[in-house]
Amino acid sequence: MPFPPPAKSPLQPLHLSAAKARDIALFCKRDDLYTPAPGTALQGNKVRKLEPVLRAAVAAKPTPLLVSFGGAYSNHVSALATAGRLYSIPVHLFVRGEEVDNALLDQARRDGAIITLLSRSEYRFKNEASWLRLRQAELAEQHRLPPEFIWFIPEGGTTKESARNVGKLYGEVVSDLGQPPDFLCISAGTGGSAAGIIQAADPKTRIEVYPALKGDWMADEIQQLLGPGVSQNWTCITDYHFGGYGKFPWEWVVPSEGIASRADIGEPGLPQLEPIYTAKLFSGVLDRLRAGKYPEGSSVVVVHTGGIY
Ligand SMILES: *Cc1c(COP(=O)(O)O)cnc(C)c1O
Repeated sequence: MPFPPPAKSPLQPLHLSAAKARDIALFCKRDDLYTPAPGTALQGNKVRKLEPVLRAAVAAKPTPLLVSFGGAYSNHVSALATAGRLYSIPVHLFVRGEEVDNALLDQARRDGAIITLLSRSEYRFKNEASWLRLRQAELAEQHRLPPEFIWFIPEGGTTKESARNVGKLYGEVVSDLGQPPDFLCISAGTGGSAAGIIQAADPKTRIEVYPALKGDWMADEIQQLLGPGVSQNWTCITDYHFGGYGKFPWEWVVPSEGIASRADIGEPGLPQLEPIYTAKLFSGVLDRLRAGKYPEGSSVVVVHTGGIY
């Protein structure tokens, strides 16, 4: 099956009283609706990031083996396993940590992905050329493929090419608004999605990046993914990690009909959120909005990168 291009995602006006009070035009870029297969884990920024490699894999003969890495609760791992099932591409996932009872990994196995658990110490080798060469030779033999048909995708799906593909959502926003927004806010895990948007952005738009992880290294990480001559009108807002990756206030969690947690940050009028990335982002933006960080009359776009809940 060819990889179908999903329709562009909608730009939804958010009518929140905090925004109205300051005459701020607040929008949500609904990339949670960006999917070739609604209702699956292949959604959101993980589609934007995987699109180039999936297109190439579907077109290649023989079909390559896609190999990637992630934590046991990684949306990237779930999205890639789903893509493997939908487009008949074999997928092998190296997952960090010990065996855990985990609905996301169970689903990935049902989707047909082969999962190898790696200890935290071995997982660290995932970026080392010599370790990857050994795995490539092993997997080529197991799958009876020439070694060049073992394709490695980095953790989180982040490459310069995948970042560039995420950047396309900025153009969609500008075409829907009729002009560049004053602010565009996005969550960050590896920073790949943010880097792609910074590269695509008009310097008139200030890009605010909200890391979901604790620490102050994200700006350097993003800088490394940026090419020369890109907009410098961006910043990392590091105050909304809520304790670090996978940590969040317990009172956010509400029952979900899906296989992961859903979050409610207590603000009516928001789309559904998950606690790992998007609830943190929206809390941060709303907090800053109330604190008067966005000038009166400005336009603010918040990117809903999706997630599983
Ligand atoms: C993976 C993910 C992110 C982080 O994307 P990066 O490109 O790694 O920064 C943000 N939001 C959601 C919902 C995700 O699944």
